[in-house]
Amino acid sequence: MAGAVKSNSTSQARIKAKDKTDIPKPQVNFKEKINNDPQPFLHKLKEKPYSLKPLSFQERDSHPYEFELENFTPDPIFLDVKNDIPLLPLSKTPLIMIDSTEGFEHLLQDLLLQTVIAVDLEHHDSRSYQGITCLMQISTGKSDYIVDTLKLWDQLQPLNQVFCNPKILKVASIFHAAENDVVWLQRDFGIYVVNLFDTCQAASLLRLKRKGLAFLLQHYCQIRISKSYQRADWRIRPLSKEMLNYARGDTHYLIYIYERLKQDLNSGQFYGKLDGSSIRKEGKEGLLKKCHELKRSKASKTTANDTGVKRMLEVWKNSRSICLRRYKIPPKEKYLKSYSKLIEKDKNFNRQQLYALQELCAWRDRVARDEDESPNFVVPNYMLVTMTHHLPNNPQHLLRCCSYAPFVQQHLLHIHGIMLKARELDISSTTTKETRTTSETKEQFKKDRKRKSTFSFAETSQRLTKKRAIGDVSSIAKKSVLVTKTHRVELTNLACEKKSPATTRKEKPSQSQNM
Ligand code: AMP
Ligand code: ZN
Ligand code: MN
Repeated sequence: MAGAVKSNSTSQARIKAKDKTDIPKPQVNFKEKINNDPQPFLHKLKEKPYSLKPLSFQERDSHPYEFELENFTPDPIFLDVKNDIPLLPLSKTPLIMIDSTEGFEHLLQDLLLQTVIAVDLEHHDSRSYQGITCLMQISTGKSDYIVDTLKLWDQLQPLNQVFCNPKILKVASIFHAAENDVVWLQRDFGIYVVNLFDTCQAASLLRLKRKGLAFLLQHYCQIRISKSYQRADWRIRPLSKEMLNYARGDTHYLIYIYERLKQDLNSGQFYGKLDGSSIRKEGKEGLLKKCHELKRSKASKTTANDTGVKRMLEVWKNSRSICLRRYKIPPKEKYLKSYSKLIEKDKNFNRQQLYALQELCAWRDRVARDEDESPNFVVPNYMLVTMTHHLPNNPQHLLRCCSYAPFVQQHLLHIHGIMLKARELDISSTTTKETRTTSETKEQFKKDRKRKSTFSFAETSQRLTKKRAIGDVSSIAKKSVLVTKTHRVELTNLACEKKSPATTRKEKPSQSQNM
């Protein structure tokens, strides 16, 4: 039932529980078992509200709202700029917890009456292979809702009546470029978004110093929030008062911020350097002056000027690109990404070790999929590296490399087999040509990393589309094979019983020295 939330005890223990992993896995209660097989993701849509093109059950690996999104333009009412923006204080806003079918029906009816809602999700990815959405926060301007998505997991798809309704705007702060709320909604609930205004896209267009919600809250609402709960374990129930407050804070101010962003887009309030002749830097004073001017104006809203409309439409267009993204189940070769990262950190692995590490990563990924756990929960990276350094040649030594790793115990024979096979490989030195290729490969890694950190949203979206077309992992796979082939080979004795030369390197974990 929907109702005002009672505050739970704020025990430190619960806050600390974010580090605990012994909470019963909520996945066991889901009607449909989570499938982690590396196959194309098939949409879960049962019906298609606001459809312009009938739903195809044959093309389940496509985006069911692609056509609607491509033909979408925001209703002109969204392009008006409000002069007086209401903001109900947190203390006067009811917080309504939705964790029952009746509560959900109440929520749906309320949302259908809105023209703008704010949405955010909290997510967990340590005890799950693909990740699970644990909470959905929705604010209407009058109420803050928190939906227990773990409880209502199989019942949330009717929200498409709101989320796919082009007349209801969804405001969100989508900070993470690839992993984000839009694809989590597709993956977990078969929910799609039509008519999104991503505040990060607007912040980017306005050249604001930062684009995340924390900055926008500070900038437009003079509110400082701590992001310390961002990585909390959102599966915990009941949620502590602090967690509830944090969660509602992520949507409570979003509609207000959206209106302020539109004011700035309309007035050309740029905060940083723009290209060419339109460079216009205005400080806080300029902004305040504009806000006062707007407030003095008698009309409750202003029709935006042509340039303002153009800028706003740009935000809608970029937000639409996010909505067009499709969720993808991590492909079979995903483990090569971990492998590449690990050998990038330690460039001195020899051929035996490279073989073992690649096999360990592949094994870990398989187990993680089967058990619905994150690979890092199955075996943390540092343990894989320790095993790789020592290539223990008997199971007892192997277990000593992993202080607490139930999955290693469970699969001891298989891992031991990998070690023995690795040790059978010939360790031979490389040629100059191969060494040169290694440095070329390293250069490529560096370049890739640099490029990755400087992407704009538009580029990211373009690249994602391109990647989709050429196949996501082929490049990772190729890179890994190249590195494997050309890695510098050291002639070392890797026997676990003897002190491994690898362990004499300063930066290495010293676990082995106790063995
Ligand atoms: P937010 O968009 O800030 O509400 O974050 C949504 C979810 O993304 C959180 O519940 C986390 O699971 C995840 N997340 C956000 N920020 C981080 C981060 N810095 N590192 C890891 N996960 C994050
Ligand atoms: Zn979010
Ligand atoms: Mn959030």
